[in-house]
Amino acid sequence: MYLLYLDDSGSVANVNEKYFVLGGVCVPENSTRWLSYELEKLAQEINPENPRDVEFHASEIFGGRGKIWEQFNRQQRIEIIRRVLLVLENAYSSIVTFACAVHKESFPNTDPVMTAFEDLSSRFNLYLRNVTSEYSHKGLIVLDKSSYETSLQNLSFQFKEQGDQWGSFQKSIIEVPLFVNSRASRVIQLADHIAYAVFRRYNAEDLTYFNCIEGRFDQREGKMHGLAHKQTYKYSCTCPACISRR
Ligand SMILES: [Zn+2]
Repeated sequence: MYLLYLDDSGSVANVNEKYFVLGGVCVPENSTRWLSYELEKLAQEINPENPRDVEFHASEIFGGRGKIWEQFNRQQRIEIIRRVLLVLENAYSSIVTFACAVHKESFPNTDPVMTAFEDLSSRFNLYLRNVTSEYSHKGLIVLDKSSYETSLQNLSFQFKEQGDQWGSFQKSIIEVPLFVNSRASRVIQLADHIAYAVFRRYNAEDLTYFNCIEGRFDQREGKMHGLAHKQTYKYSCTCPACISRR
């Protein structure tokens, strides 16, 4: 089985933010332990007495919010976010990142959460079809309990209503996502950082974090399938997602 851990970055309601991002990492089930262990080692380095107190949440680290993060200066905190992302540098090539950045103003009458979730689940389905023959592996989407439980659960309900469409389209994915507590899952914490990296890239043109993961997005035959930039305002966008589709 392949697990796609997703988390969100950017607020749907906040008009000062142009983007909403859903993003994360796809991990074959036998690699989740390795990935969690790598992040645990970093947590031990930050707080040797009690690594379980360290929850990697990129926007909190960046803002220096909370007892653990306020002891580091800004540059150190930026470096911690980068180091969380850089655990992927030594990962097997079967661990790939996915993200969808939705420019909210481009789609005024649609829910960006729904748009991003539909986009990512269809990409995940295609990925499973490509890496495994004849749907031999199932996929499960794992989401942070605290983030968009309600709207995403509404979404999976809608898919059930339109059963056939969802069933035949997303053949490889188990239909109801799994919601987990981010405190208990290091991999969900990594998904949070990936969403944050993509959000900073599109919302603030800050490449500091995106550069750490750019090479990890699912790509085949010169196309960056793992990253989508949903927008209608900039035909000539030169981001890697738009360029690879032209
Ligand atoms: Zn673009």
